[in-house]
Amino acid sequence: MALDDVKHIIHRCFRCGYCKFTHSYSEFNCPSYNKHRFETYSAGGRIWLIFGLMNNELQWSDNLANILYACSTCGNCVENCRFVKFNEFWVDIIEAARAEAVKNGFCPEKQKNLLERTTNPEMFNPYAEPNSDNEELKKEYNLPDKAEWVYFIGCTSNYRQKNLRDSTLRFLKKAKIDFTLIDEYCCCSPIIRTGQISPVKDFMNYNVGKIKEVGATKVITSCAGCYRTLKNDFEKFGVEYDFKLYHTAELVKQLLDEGKLKFKSNYDKTVTYHDPCHLGRHSGIYEIPREVYKKIPGINFVEMKRNRENAYCCGAGGGVKIGFPDWAVEISKERLEEAKETGATVVSSTCPFCRTNLSDANDKFDLGFEVIDLIEILDKLDLEIIET
Ligand code: SF4
Ligand code: SF4
Repeated sequence: MALDDVKHIIHRCFRCGYCKFTHSYSEFNCPSYNKHRFETYSAGGRIWLIFGLMNNELQWSDNLANILYACSTCGNCVENCRFVKFNEFWVDIIEAARAEAVKNGFCPEKQKNLLERTTNPEMFNPYAEPNSDNEELKKEYNLPDKAEWVYFIGCTSNYRQKNLRDSTLRFLKKAKIDFTLIDEYCCCSPIIRTGQISPVKDFMNYNVGKIKEVGATKVITSCAGCYRTLKNDFEKFGVEYDFKLYHTAELVKQLLDEGKLKFKSNYDKTVTYHDPCHLGRHSGIYEIPREVYKKIPGINFVEMKRNRENAYCCGAGGGVKIGFPDWAVEISKERLEEAKETGATVVSSTCPFCRTNLSDANDKFDLGFEVIDLIEILDKLDLEIIET
């Protein structure tokens, strides 16, 4: 989306301020407004800044760009803005304004690193790690060159959350899924979210081409960010594909429903679930992971006060983790304090990026939780696979 596409609607935000709240309007739920307590740092405030830029009533400055980038693109404003029909565009508008910031030379320095690393041919990932072509993993897990499924690992799992990656690989093997890996480039989520969109279409076409090469008709990812990008952004960038997309939670739920998977041991812990913004508000998946947790024998599953559409962001997304690292963990600290109220000892999610930021806050503030992904919990269980 370009800002010109929203010229006809952007002036219609009526500054009611509902975008800052949960559904019940009892709590602030925009992490950015929570931090700054100043209207400009809410969605409504940003919309009016962007309107001012579009009318040339405001000029680009580092300060203005900084306000646009101090947003985790969590989507709470999309969920709670009362301006129906148009509210669905607010995150897209913020991302489009960031693309304008990039064009005008106002992308903040730290976020620029994401593009430099992602487009570096030695890396193709935002973590500045040497690119893994995944050949070693294919050998280690004895994976074929052609398969029905591709596990699209994603950069966070491949370079920062290897236990989550390996748990997923082990689960797919145990479940006898015919899958393989490709030599992936970044899915582009970090650079799209920060408005650095110049290489995105090429990267998307590359990944789709690699998936086609191995003959896969299904793609599974363990990352909420990759999932949202593949599900929503490829189409927006005009990149088509004909494979069916799954998040790991969806495959687990399907196998349980079909009677092909049974949990044969207990997980006797009190667990609360953190909805990743990219799986929840951005992709509409709330109940599937919950149904899986609730089927685990022995589990005591409890909800945080803010859950599902009202979940509080972990603070990592939208370039906040790299741009404002201290603030990012403060946001996760607030989330973990909410988790404490439930009596849970385990905070679980379905996204490696949430896992990273929640773990960082847990360690930094010594909050004493076990932070773990759903697939890592399943990796600890005895599983029975029923072949039909
Ligand atoms: S809720 Fe919607 S209309 Fe109201 S201030 Fe926020 S963005 Fe504007
Ligand atoms: S996307 Fe989230 S952080 Fe950004 S303005 Fe909307 S509610 Fe606030």
